[in-house]
Amino acid sequence: MNARRIKKAIRRISLLPKNKYLYKYLINKVKHFWYKFRKSTKVAYPQTIMLELTNRCNIACVTCPREYEYGKAMAQGTISVNQAKKVIDELWCRLDSIGLTGMGETFLFKEIEEVVNYIKSKNRGIIISVSTNAVLPDFIERVKPLIGKNLTLLRLQSMTRLIMIFTIRLSLNWRFKN
Ligand code: SF4
Repeated sequence: MNARRIKKAIRRISLLPKNKYLYKYLINKVKHFWYKFRKSTKVAYPQTIMLELTNRCNIACVTCPREYEYGKAMAQGTISVNQAKKVIDELWCRLDSIGLTGMGETFLFKEIEEVVNYIKSKNRGIIISVSTNAVLPDFIERVKPLIGKNLTLLRLQSMTRLIMIFTIRLSLNWRFKN
C-alpha cells in the first residue's frame, strides 16, 4: 500500500458515520472479508456501485458499445433525481464509493450537483467519481460548482478523447449529436 492509499484509507476511516450506521458498515466489511476468505459463493452488500444517471451521450465514439447493434437497441433515458436518491438511501450506509457513470455522458444530467450533494449529506467519506468525455461546450461551467466542494474525483475519459481525435483525423467518422 503506497502513501496515497494510506492517506485515503485514513481519511475514509475518519469520515465514517459515528452512529448506528457504523455498525452496519463494519458488519458488512467483516462479512465481505469473511466470505472472501472462505471462498464462499455468498457476497456481502455492495461497497461500491455505479449509478447511471443518464445513458444519453452528446457524441458517438465509433468504439463505444452504444454504437453496436445492442447499444442502438437499448432504451435511452435519464433517471429522476428522486429515483437516484432512492437508490442512495437504500445503499449508502455500506458504501465506500459511488461512480456516477454509465453508458452516457453524466454531465448531461442537469441535477448532478444535487445528487452529489445528497450523497455527501449522507456521508462525506463516500468517494464519488464521474467519468466524462469533457467535450460539452459548457463543460467547465457544469463542472465548476462541483470542484473542490463535493466531487472527490473527476476521471476524464482520456482514451475516449484520444480515440476521437484519431477518428477525426483518419476517417471523419465522428459527429456531434444535437
Ligand atoms: S463519450 Fe463515452 S458514452 Fe459517449 S459515445 Fe463516447 S465512449 Fe460512448
